[in-house]
Parts: sequence; structure tokens; C-alpha cells
Amino acid sequence: MRITENTIVANEALVQHYKEIIGLLGEDVTREGLLKTPERVAKAMQFLTKGYNEDPEAILRSAMFKEEGYKQMVIVKDIDFFSMCEHHMLPFFGKAHIAYIPRHYITGLSKIPRIVDIFARRLQIQERLTMQIKDCIQQTLDPLGVMVVVEAQHMCMQMRGVEKQNSLTTTSDFTGFFQQAKTREEFMNLIR
Ligand SMILES: [Zn+2]
Repeated sequence: MRITENTIVANEALVQHYKEIIGLLGEDVTREGLLKTPERVAKAMQFLTKGYNEDPEAILRSAMFKEEGYKQMVIVKDIDFFSMCEHHMLPFFGKAHIAYIPRHYITGLSKIPRIVDIFARRLQIQERLTMQIKDCIQQTLDPLGVMVVVEAQHMCMQMRGVEKQNSLTTTSDFTGFFQQAKTREEFMNLIR
């Protein structure tokens, strides 16, 4: 079953801890506007980290089809994602662009955004998110090559004033045929 915020039951220990945290931050947890906040925060955080309970390789395998003819890039671009940086537990979000060149198998196109979502819904760093998506596709579909480009804004930099507002961080990782600069260029041109 797919987890949505409505199917989540608040973890009681989390609720108690958030109550304490809000108090420690100097707030009055008994004030009306905050009464249900610990429970809401617990649920929201459980939702934002739901990827721990999901198996991305199983998702890809659930729609794997034999395809021996097509040997060009399959590209899924502009995949929106929302994640949480593991250093500050603040959001980072943006777009992922993914290409692979099939060897024997293709996967349902809708499965690619699903696996991005599963890895993003964990405490992450952008570099590892990029690598895990690449590894998952490589290990499951065994393509001739896979490339992942992730562009993101990090609230932990923007809100804390560490970086210029709206600066984008780009990461990429690749295997196989994408080791050739020409193949990477073709992909980059197609996602621009
Ligand atoms: Zn951070």
C-alpha cells in the first residue's frame, strides 16, 4: 500500500518528544495554536521520511520488461523531488533528470519518479541521493549505462544565510556508456 499522510498514525513517542522540543525552544505548548502541533509535526516527519519503509528495487522490478531492440537513451527529466538534509533536517528540493540505455530490460516510465521519491523521503545529502538513484537503476535493470543529474536548492543554506538566495547545487553521477563525454553531452543537451 502506498503511504500517504492520511494513512500515517502519529508515533506517540515522537509526539511526546516534539512537545518537549517546542517547550525547549521557548514556546508554551499549552497555547491553543500549538495544542495539536506535536502530533502534526510527528506525522509530517514520518511522511517526509517514509522512504525507509519502501523498497525502490522492488518498484523497478514490478514493471520490468524485456526489450532487445531499443539501444538509445530513455530519458525522464524534470522529476520534482523534496528531501531533507541530514545535517540540519531542513528541506532541500529541486529536479532530477535521469537517462539510461537499455541492455535487455526497460522499466515502466512512471517507476523512475517513484524511486526518486523513495530515496528523497529519507534524511539525505544531495550527493548520496544522486548516487543511490544511479546504483538502484544500474543494479536492477543492468543497463548499458545510466546517468543521474540532480539540481536542488537547500533551505539549510538559504534560510541560514550561508549561501546566496536561490543558488542551485548540481550533482551528477553515471555508469557505462555515460563515461564517454559525448554521451553525457547528448543527455545534457536533451535536458536543457
Ligand atoms: Zn543542511
